[in-house]
Amino acid sequence: MSTQQDNPDSGSSSGSGYCLYDLLFSETPAPNASWNPRTEQRKAAGPQKRLETFSRQLSNKHCADCGSPDPKWVSLTLGVFICIKCSGVHRSLGVHISKVLSMKLDEWSDEQVDCMINLGGNSIANDKYEACIPDNIRKPRPDSSIEERADFIRRKYELQQFMECNESLLCPYTPNMGSSSSLHCSSEHYSNHDKKPLEKQSTKHHRIGHAFRNSWGRKDVEHKSTKKINSLAGMVEFVGLIKVNVVKGTNLAVRDVMTSDPYVILALGHQSVKTRVIKNNLNPVWNESLMLSIPEQIPPLKVIVYDKDTFSTDDFMGEAEIDIQPLLTAARACEKSEISDETMQLGKWVANKENTLEKDGIISLVDGRVKQEISVRLQRVERGVLEIELECVALSQ
Ligand SMILES: [Zn+2]
Repeated sequence: MSTQQDNPDSGSSSGSGYCLYDLLFSETPAPNASWNPRTEQRKAAGPQKRLETFSRQLSNKHCADCGSPDPKWVSLTLGVFICIKCSGVHRSLGVHISKVLSMKLDEWSDEQVDCMINLGGNSIANDKYEACIPDNIRKPRPDSSIEERADFIRRKYELQQFMECNESLLCPYTPNMGSSSSLHCSSEHYSNHDKKPLEKQSTKHHRIGHAFRNSWGRKDVEHKSTKKINSLAGMVEFVGLIKVNVVKGTNLAVRDVMTSDPYVILALGHQSVKTRVIKNNLNPVWNESLMLSIPEQIPPLKVIVYDKDTFSTDDFMGEAEIDIQPLLTAARACEKSEISDETMQLGKWVANKENTLEKDGIISLVDGRVKQEISVRLQRVERGVLEIELECVALSQ
């Protein structure tokens, strides 16, 4: 499985590194391959194993952002090992800044592990992104609040305020001004003294804004309000994770001449992720798993299908709302009761005329995992059924 999204930006920074690694340690037999220990090592160990070995390097044993021990998450884009709490903030920045994967729950390819290894891990990334942290900014600790964590992570990676090359952009005021004044100072700095970072910012927010417009069908979202939404996104405390496997669509609506190029957007609170586009298919099979953090105030999971158009705005192909609360309640109950090996039905969301279910959404425990299969009739569209599988992921993973 993979939690990857079609995003042209993600991973681009690591592209060249990967190529170099591949040239050096390609699987293709080379005259010296037989005695190259790294080639042998790579052949013997699967990607997951190689990632685990890499994670055992000293600097990777603690979260790159807050120092929590034994981080189980990774930002593939930034090449850092991070803890579950920081991973929630990373995810809310958007995949174009930080693409978050789980070391254990995601299936890793050799290329992705190469990418991580080439980026160098926590120490290299922190040398870059924390090259010059001003004295008035404090790095979060494992017990830091979500606000402190979110503020630091956004400054570090999104605004890149601590990078050496951005030294001139740093707050010119002397330290000892307290964090609130530094916040004020940096925002003033961005808007008054230097237009460049602001422009750079707008593009980023605009892109996120576009995703939001797509997800919610709101065409009138102002740049300003999008920015506000986004700035709040990192402030949410996450209570868990949900893995959504978008299985397939059946009898979807025609949006091009004869067919459609469908893709699915999943949105939960301020986060949204999307599947790949499947061309010319009204019965597409994605089988694509995407991960979302569950905010404390649990919103419904929104599922929106679009038809990809190259030269015009993507066409709407229906939507559905799924209540994930019953699944979460079942998962919590299971965690407490410590049943793990059995397979059993835990409950169901019964299909009826009032709701949008095609058949009952059964919640079951399979190999210690709490899952729900859902087959939903798409709304605000003439036809189409979407099948998805939900799985709750314990925060301790
Ligand atoms: Zn952390």
